[in-house]
Amino acid sequence: MKALIYYGNKNIKLENSWQDPKLNDEFDSIIKINYTSICATDIEEWQFGPNYIQQNDLPIVHGHEITGEVIEIGKNVKNLNIGDTVAVNNVIHCKKCFWCLNGQGGACVGMKVAGFALDGGLSEYMRWPSTHLIKISDGIPKKYGALIEPSTVATHAIRKSGVKPGDNVAVVGCGTVGLLTVQVLKAAGAIVTAIDIRKESLDLAKSFGADFVYDSRKNDFIEYLLSITSGIGHDIVFETAGAHVAPKIAIDITRRGGKTILVGIYSKELSMNFNDIVFFEKEVIGTVGSSPGDMEATVMLLNQGKIDPSSLVSETIKLDNVIKGGYEKMNSSSKSIFRILVSP
Ligand SMILES: [Zn+2]
Ligand SMILES: [Zn+2]
Repeated sequence: MKALIYYGNKNIKLENSWQDPKLNDEFDSIIKINYTSICATDIEEWQFGPNYIQQNDLPIVHGHEITGEVIEIGKNVKNLNIGDTVAVNNVIHCKKCFWCLNGQGGACVGMKVAGFALDGGLSEYMRWPSTHLIKISDGIPKKYGALIEPSTVATHAIRKSGVKPGDNVAVVGCGTVGLLTVQVLKAAGAIVTAIDIRKESLDLAKSFGADFVYDSRKNDFIEYLLSITSGIGHDIVFETAGAHVAPKIAIDITRRGGKTILVGIYSKELSMNFNDIVFFEKEVIGTVGSSPGDMEATVMLLNQGKIDPSSLVSETIKLDNVIKGGYEKMNSSSKSIFRILVSP
């Protein structure tokens, strides 16, 4: 089959005769890939990786935001039928380590992630444990399945934040994950302020239900945020941009005693005055990937129409064009791209 192979730092190649995947055991399924979307993390990995979740199992098939159709199932698979459209829950937790046993799957030391430590979905076919394939309702457009993984990153961060209905919540950075965070926060009953410097992103945030949108470059930025929160500031702030200035903005606009949730992944080491956290008793929490149950909840939100990823698909390309039309394009300075979907 055709597959985009990650060999290491700055080294990816489209292979035309990579070995087709096979069932490893009676609980596996094979899916025919419908769409895999390219994420900024793939670009980070390609340019600066391998990262923390790589675990040196190279080479591997890249791509972790995956949807496909079940074409083969092992004889002990109970939850799927041939022909089902599924989202791939790309994170496999070990379920044995200290963290898994303490309900902190996101910090699992034995975590294996598709596209990083195990073969991913920028290919024609993929093998995956059936327990980690989640059926999407038949009426949902097939492309939306590729946006389930970034939506799950939002769901995981929001669940971890402990957000409550009526909380004043801000989202710093309205790229794909930020805009999905806005949608999931609205489903959770929060009052949402979306912050970015791009008008297109702020317009989309508004269309996804953000109660307030604001350009962080405006001189009265802080005064504005205080004015919409009765002078208190935001209870919880999600940083989803991964930009170098973003964590400081997120911590600065978190109210005294509030929480900053870091969702972005940073390509260099940043510094800050930690007294800005200490003196105001702020909590800063890191989140990555997902915990067991997060993706099932996200598919439910999609099936119920609470998440609408349609405007986040910038374009769809063929696997043959994945390097030039996908990776190189995403790596260029153009910022008007949300997700590029790759169909084999
Ligand atoms: Zn991703
Ligand atoms: Zn574990």
